[in-house]
Amino acid sequence: MVKLWWEEARAGCMTVTDNDDSEPLNGDSIAIKDNIVTSTLPTTAASRILSYHTSPFEATVVKLLKQNGATISSKANMDEFGMGSHSQNSFNGPVLSLFKRDGVPLSPGGSSGGSAVAVATGNCWAALGTDTGGSVRLPAAYTGTVGFKPSYGLLSRWGVIQYANSLDTVGILAASVEDAAAVFSILNHYDAQDPTSLLPSVRGRIAANRRTFPKTLRIGVPTDYNIHELSSAVRGAYISTLQQLQNLGHTLHAISLPTTKQALSAYYVLAPAEASSNLAKHDGIRYGFRSEGPDALPRENLPLYAQTRGEGFGEEVKRRILLGAYTLSSEAIDNYFIQAQKVRRLVQRDFDRVFATQNPLLDSKPGGGGGGVDVIITPTAPTLPPTVDEVKKQSPVESYMNDVFTVPASLAGLPAVSVPMPLSDAIEMEVEGGDVKTTGIQVIGQFGDDELVLRAAEIVQ
Ligand code: GLN
Repeated sequence: MVKLWWEEARAGCMTVTDNDDSEPLNGDSIAIKDNIVTSTLPTTAASRILSYHTSPFEATVVKLLKQNGATISSKANMDEFGMGSHSQNSFNGPVLSLFKRDGVPLSPGGSSGGSAVAVATGNCWAALGTDTGGSVRLPAAYTGTVGFKPSYGLLSRWGVIQYANSLDTVGILAASVEDAAAVFSILNHYDAQDPTSLLPSVRGRIAANRRTFPKTLRIGVPTDYNIHELSSAVRGAYISTLQQLQNLGHTLHAISLPTTKQALSAYYVLAPAEASSNLAKHDGIRYGFRSEGPDALPRENLPLYAQTRGEGFGEEVKRRILLGAYTLSSEAIDNYFIQAQKVRRLVQRDFDRVFATQNPLLDSKPGGGGGGVDVIITPTAPTLPPTVDEVKKQSPVESYMNDVFTVPASLAGLPAVSVPMPLSDAIEMEVEGGDVKTTGIQVIGQFGDDELVLRAAEIVQ
């Protein structure tokens, strides 16, 4: 059943007054991922290079939460600069999940693992994370929480430490879709301080495009997501979700998103390229950590900035900087960066072809999509969370594989939410010694169809 909670949530956040009962977030505690700046708590992005950093200003999203009565409970640990899928790459130490298998902690997912665990353990009512290629949705899937990545540009990035600007999106982790939607309503505003914030004119076009919520959803089921790496536990939960939706009267439609296979490779070219440029400003002069020495006399003939960056960045961050610097170099840019940008366009076109609604950022809809679907439903992650010991044995590329289902929506800037789905009893017994009871199911919508995506997620939930 579709509940009419959305209108209530929106109406509820119209009043901004002093801290009294009329405030929509009346003292609700919200944890903030440590790459979103706060002026009263340090912001380290889980990196040694920012270990002494407290921002002189506050991110717009944090300001909005406070204005609406929220209590900022803590900063949440994460993968350094958002780079990782398991929240184990942190200068502050790894994030541990609340779940274990045979006594060994499982991965909480990354990079917003601290935010997800804070919600899952009831340490806060909701949390902010950031999602560049899946970092809100994957931890949600691994911890049994809801993780929502809105359309790119709806929520302000002012005060969000960049990983890859063209992909970075503030996301919300909560115990239910309703809670995530309530936070979203509060944060969904134009911000002149963020040059990529969607202009009021575009927001108007999105609102004009909005249709009434269909009684029966046309659900796209991408055949290309049926990969052999999909574990039987996740496949089982996915199939039973689709069956339940069909039983409720919604219709399933096989769709093809052929560029999905190239999306992951394109993402791992584009994101490190942007990161290598973004991280150049961390040089030991302007922020945080600086290598030791009498006023940082060069050691081993290294200039101060090289020494600082060598000591300040962790292994994964250095790997991404090298990768990005290489793919942007004159000898490699044509074969890597430019090709990846082309793949990104194809991924966007794949989605535009299958959605019933036209992308409000385009003048026309590419043909070939047939009747079109309202939303696409996929698993969030191909497997249940690995143990932290298994993560240690993974090669970087194996770790990147976790993002295969989340990255396409990021490349296209689309709204996507992960909701927990129970595993079948039989599967639960199969996952011996483990106490994970859910996996994530992802709902993806057309650009700007955030409300539709959240309402569809309500039905799945
Ligand atoms: N795991 C992906 C990466 O390491 C996604 C991270 C994110 O969304 N911040 O790049």
